[in-house]
Amino acid sequence: MSGLILHVDLSKGSAVTKEYSDGFFRTFLGGGAIGTYFLLKETGAETDPLSPQNVLTIAPGLPTGAAVSGVSRCSVTALSPETGAVGDSQAGGSFGPFLRRAGIDAVVITGSAPVLSYLFIHDGAAEIIEKPDLADRSVLECFDALTAEHSEGKVSILQCGPAGEKKVRFASLASDLHNVYGRTGMGAVFGSKNLRAVVASPTGKIEFADPEALKELAKKGVKRINEDGAGETLKKYGTPGIVGGNAMVGNLSTHNYSAGFHEKYAQLDGSHFVDRIGSKGTTCFACAIGCRKTVKTETPYRVSDRLGGPEFETLGVLGSNLDIFDPVAVARANELCNNYGLDTITMGGIASFLCEAVEKGDIDGEQLGIENFGFGKPEGIFTLIEQTGRGQGLGEVLAKGFSGAVEHFGKATRPYAVQVKNHGFAVHMPQVKPSMALLYAVSPIGADHMSSEHDWISTDTSEAARGLGLYNPGEVESYGPEKVRGVTYSQLYYGLLDSLGLCMFVWGPGGVYDYTELEDLLRATSGYQMTFWELMKAAERRITMMRLLNLRRGFTAADDQLPAKMFTPLKGGASDGKAVDKQKFEAMRANYYLLMGWDEKGVPTKGKLYDLDLLWAAGDE
Ligand code: SF4
Repeated sequence: MSGLILHVDLSKGSAVTKEYSDGFFRTFLGGGAIGTYFLLKETGAETDPLSPQNVLTIAPGLPTGAAVSGVSRCSVTALSPETGAVGDSQAGGSFGPFLRRAGIDAVVITGSAPVLSYLFIHDGAAEIIEKPDLADRSVLECFDALTAEHSEGKVSILQCGPAGEKKVRFASLASDLHNVYGRTGMGAVFGSKNLRAVVASPTGKIEFADPEALKELAKKGVKRINEDGAGETLKKYGTPGIVGGNAMVGNLSTHNYSAGFHEKYAQLDGSHFVDRIGSKGTTCFACAIGCRKTVKTETPYRVSDRLGGPEFETLGVLGSNLDIFDPVAVARANELCNNYGLDTITMGGIASFLCEAVEKGDIDGEQLGIENFGFGKPEGIFTLIEQTGRGQGLGEVLAKGFSGAVEHFGKATRPYAVQVKNHGFAVHMPQVKPSMALLYAVSPIGADHMSSEHDWISTDTSEAARGLGLYNPGEVESYGPEKVRGVTYSQLYYGLLDSLGLCMFVWGPGGVYDYTELEDLLRATSGYQMTFWELMKAAERRITMMRLLNLRRGFTAADDQLPAKMFTPLKGGASDGKAVDKQKFEAMRANYYLLMGWDEKGVPTKGKLYDLDLLWAAGDE
């Protein structure tokens, strides 16, 4: 590892590298932990996420760039314009590995460029390049322009789309063409800094501590994937392959989270549509699974395979949750979001919010000014996405996310807004999965399905559960102590994966590799002889720092809540009649605080801060 972090001030036009110690990297590892560290150090309680003072960090992990499956992820962290809390988003692809091969372990960006610019990183340094003609160009157009500009060698491009330039608060970032940092509005932070893209050129080589051990680890993974069936469904169909299984247990959000099942669910399952519209798949850097599926079709809508196809979550939020069951229509909506640079999850949630408000008569459909708008009508949804991506028409209102929409359309529409901290829900339903009831409420970035394992981990007897200290398997429906432990311990483990830039499909509990091999990976890449204890402490430090940042910004336990709709019974399918039990949910949340070493108000105790060496972060050194 280089130990170099690049500090860029776009207002001053400066880009300098600073060397950080082994102690720093061992304490924070990488990813969102480093990003949150800089937010705690350099922002205040009142810092506007869309101001030049916001601190945006792009950080892969210590193993990133090793040619081992699932070791390619990178995090982007900043104050979120969508939630006002910490924002943190990850994706795989090539950007993280290329950044490290450009000689940089992380990039910290402040200020705002006087004209639209991009950052070109190579040979351990960076240039800020003005490029005003990229304005309003789609993700594809910008990718092609920057690739042509740097045709002398291979580069990886991280960019916001036009939605980010317009500061839509749930704007995403595209990593080349097939990977998206979808959540918490990091695209809008790029836009607020007049930063259209960061281009990384892999001009060097990463020095790993034990290349032979890495080769062995890589081989083991390839064998398990190619011969032993690990990740088989993902390899064949990508995440769309899990639509059917989720529908059968009543966990496919439908009609704005009013049901968990629809009889037409099979049309959205990857196994059903792959032969009709599937194209070639792609993979993240060095991963043998290759779950990044693309789609290509001309009819009834044209969808190109240059951008990534819809993932499971998108098939739900832009499909079943809008009563749309034509996979081509969902693929088209997904392509529009990706080309404008919009988070498909929050975009889908806002669309279904509007559909229900119109259906219930709390919004006059005419008022929207969009023809053919409502559940089951893809054309109206396409128009909505285009207006949002361009920041025109209704898009001006929707740019502020759920809170802006409720403010505009009136408080009678609030019950249809399915969000926590202004952050839209994914497909997974708390009414069916008590783990998600807890996680969505307490996750520092708002409702997020990728911040812990789901309920299975607390029902399991394998080493995947036992290795996290879960010895008393219970029922899926349970809200008991083992469920809270399952969410808490696996949330820490997922935080560890995010800090190290590891993919949960490969390195998650029960994935391709086990916990001891994660220690091996770290040793072989960074040379650090870190134990699982030390690693999990770093993960706990990360989540506690995020909590401290949110508390400083005015968030309280009252924000660890679920929308009222979660306490209303679902209709139809295997989850018919299921709702979140409010009392039990509140008890889970209280037990979560206890397990995390937080007081009854959700504030980390002094003892916990002492334990994690975080007294400084609470202003109590
Ligand atoms: S499993 Fe899929 S998402 Fe994960 S690293 Fe491999 S290709 Fe990327």
